[in-house]
Amino acid sequence: MKTVFSMSSSGRMGVSLPALDVPPSAELPEGLERESGSIGLPEVTEGQVMRHFIELSNANYHVDKGMYPLGSCTMKYNPRQNEDIARMPGLAGLHPLSPDAMAQGTLELMHRLSGYLCEITGFEAITLQPAAGAQGEFCGLMLITSYHRDRGEGHRNEVLMPDSAHGTNPATSTLAGCKVIGVSSNDRGEVDPEDLRRKVGPNTAAFMLTNPNTLGLFESKIGELTSIVHEAGGLNYMDGANMNALLGVARPGDMGFDVCHLNLHKTFGTPHGGGGPGSGPVACISDLERYLPDSIVSKDSDGRYFLQKPDRSFGRLLAFHGNVGVLYRAYAYIRTLGADGLCEVTENALINANYLKEKLKGIFELPFDDGPCMHEFVLSGDRQLEKGVKTLDIAKRLLDYGFHAPTIYFPLIVHEAMMIEPTETEGIEDLDSFIAAMESIAREVEEKPHLVTDAPVNTPVLRLDEVAAVKELCIVEPRVEE
Ligand SMILES: *Cc1c(COP(=O)(O)O)cnc(C)c1O
Repeated sequence: MKTVFSMSSSGRMGVSLPALDVPPSAELPEGLERESGSIGLPEVTEGQVMRHFIELSNANYHVDKGMYPLGSCTMKYNPRQNEDIARMPGLAGLHPLSPDAMAQGTLELMHRLSGYLCEITGFEAITLQPAAGAQGEFCGLMLITSYHRDRGEGHRNEVLMPDSAHGTNPATSTLAGCKVIGVSSNDRGEVDPEDLRRKVGPNTAAFMLTNPNTLGLFESKIGELTSIVHEAGGLNYMDGANMNALLGVARPGDMGFDVCHLNLHKTFGTPHGGGGPGSGPVACISDLERYLPDSIVSKDSDGRYFLQKPDRSFGRLLAFHGNVGVLYRAYAYIRTLGADGLCEVTENALINANYLKEKLKGIFELPFDDGPCMHEFVLSGDRQLEKGVKTLDIAKRLLDYGFHAPTIYFPLIVHEAMMIEPTETEGIEDLDSFIAAMESIAREVEEKPHLVTDAPVNTPVLRLDEVAAVKELCIVEPRVEE
């Protein structure tokens, strides 16, 4: 790929500046002049620059280009309308230090969004401050540990979680000063209530669970699980990253959970994946409201909105009021779809995932095959591994077929895992193309496995050293044409 520097040709210009119409300034003081005449900036035309950046954007893979079945991440297409709304000058231009009286519109919007999210999750109180799901988990655990401490039970420091948990769950629990205790899954891929019963006790702070779990299965014993924890004096935290499977249909608050975070950048209309801002609001039962971070939006009896620090707040997580631009998008998303539309999101997410699962399960192994899945499912590449082809190779080969790869090697309880989440925004044509690509790769594994183990061959960069990438950010020599 060319660089703008390699395209440079002396005398070309991308701008035309007006002639100097003021007296030239006096000579620069001695010692401040540049030593050589040129600093070597590329000399290119506007058209060359435009084509160069369009070419770069084409070299990237993104959800505007094609399907992105990255399980657990909910990489759905996000309507452009939300972007326009978040950029309206009255919203985007508001200074975060504006006094409440001058920010009534944004505060009202945050207050309304809080109400919608409480209704969707079945809780009484909420903070919109956390910047992402992981920070939401940390926030939830801070609420839980503050609650136990205030009741004279500060010794409760164990967080129970299944062996299928997302990596952020043990990480945030540890950061919150707790000890992580693993709970086993049974052969149906759900939490084993007997094991949970064995592990709860007087030190249990919380049980942390993703529902539907990371295998894409709804925990059918959820009421029993949350009761076991409550009876032992612990609280139940739901990792709500998979809310795309529940919207308008089921509520964590009704399942016996006490706290839950949402990933607005997954479920509620904000594009993500490039490290852009996220938002992980945390909703909770009223007993936990007084510990919420500083500050939350309230409404007084005259209908004015104001920011308030809860009386036993554990502190702040982020400057100002969180990533408010993401809140605007979530508000627009919810208002556009309405209650019925949100239910349809869930229905279509489930239909799409089940369609793919049924079509692919004959070709790849489906370790937990116990009826319909929720919004995602996990295949295993074990059958292909017998032919010497790893799941990593299959993921790389999918890139050659023009698809983003699924999440691989997660959850850890499935060998050679491929976690596939099509999301509700894919149409049947795209699902069928993905199925065709997977079928074709499975055939290649049988007939010409080197095509898969050598992949990718059609991408701007070939196979990267992913182990080195952990430490070394630049692991490829750009293919520069000098
Ligand atoms: C994405 C995800 C998280 C973490 O959320 P971030 O917003 O990326 O911090 C936690 N749990 C599950 C199940 C997830 O899918």
